[in-house]
Amino acid sequence: MSNELLAQVAVALASGGIRVVDLTQTLSPSTPVIGLPPPIAPSNAFRIEEISHYDERGPAWYWNNISMGEHTGTHFDAPVHWVTGKDYADGYTDTLPAQRLVAPAVVIDCSKEAAADERFTLQPDHITAWEAKHGRIPDGAWVLMRTDWSKRSDPDAFLNMKEDGPHSPGPSVEAMRFLVGQRNVNGWGVECVGTDHGQAFMFEPPFPAHNMMHGAGKLGLASLTNLDQLPPTGAILITPPLKIENGSGSPLRVLALVGV
Ligand code: MN
Repeated sequence: MSNELLAQVAVALASGGIRVVDLTQTLSPSTPVIGLPPPIAPSNAFRIEEISHYDERGPAWYWNNISMGEHTGTHFDAPVHWVTGKDYADGYTDTLPAQRLVAPAVVIDCSKEAAADERFTLQPDHITAWEAKHGRIPDGAWVLMRTDWSKRSDPDAFLNMKEDGPHSPGPSVEAMRFLVGQRNVNGWGVECVGTDHGQAFMFEPPFPAHNMMHGAGKLGLASLTNLDQLPPTGAILITPPLKIENGSGSPLRVLALVGV
């Protein structure tokens, strides 16, 4: 890679020849948090408290205290998040190689399927059909599942909790086995609250996106938005989580570079 190529990227960024698309949901106290049945411990929602706002508490400055679970809003799943990935020394938010945090992305458009069936399950056939049209998933690429689920602005509709668990789209065990075993991906990203299907607690193994991706040292992205603004191939994602010591993940700003 030459300095000349990077200089061309800089010119394209400055001239608008490369568009920067924000794939991040706004973080607020109403940001939906995944619901887990007791006795499973819950994750805290996002909290924000004003420290000062150009007032007697701080006459010239505005700032806040914030707190939340690591897996809140648009967030990053590190390999150690799952027990299957616990032995990766470079699988924590502070030990992940920075090189993996800038990577290409492919987008599999499942928006029509998810609109027709809120429990749509992505199968290997969908992935191979996508590849027949757009080419093989490149080594080191993020695979993003577009469902337009992020357009559900009401938190209840976003979580879509029913008596038999959440109804939300996601990948099958076989789809995860295919991406982990047959392709060399960087990770798996979705628009829903977590990387797995809403009914994935009943899958075998349960939660295959977590179980298999993290078991293979792969990364995860949840609660993405604006995937409808990305091309099927060619985007580059910038996804650095907070450098939390021994962190399992973190909220983050996800940016995509897209050629115009
Ligand atoms: Mn997570």
